Amino acid sequence: MKTNKIQFQAGMSLNQLLAQYGTEQQCEEVLENSRWPQGFRCPKCSSGEYYHYRRQGSVKIFQCRNCRAQTTLTEGTIFHSTKLPLTIWFQAMYVLSQTKNNVSILELKRLIGISYPAAWRMKRKLYAGHV
Ligand SMILES: [Zn+2]
Repeated sequence: MKTNKIQFQAGMSLNQLLAQYGTEQQCEEVLENSRWPQGFRCPKCSSGEYYHYRRQGSVKIFQCRNCRAQTTLTEGTIFHSTKLPLTIWFQAMYVLSQTKNNVSILELKRLIGISYPAAWRMKRKLYAGHV
């Protein structure tokens, strides 16, 4: 599942975005629910028993209690190996989904406060679903 399954309701206000997806923890929960709607399942053995932890500055890591396989919250998603916080990704998805006109990379860069190359990569991933 490499496509982006997170969708915002049409016409969501900036206020609603910040209330619902304003913190890294909120975004992680949304991503976790979208990856495992019935709760975590080990990608190797399908066990639902796991530990979770995180390294400094990294996303949540899940370790299966049964086979010890590890997976991160963002593995297999367009957010994998990103250095940007999930909140920035959610803001970019919001900007790109709420406007009818094509948002330029420069506008995206300016609106969410990231570098031009980061905005370029982000837009490419969000539109094409490339990992
Ligand atoms: Zn397992």
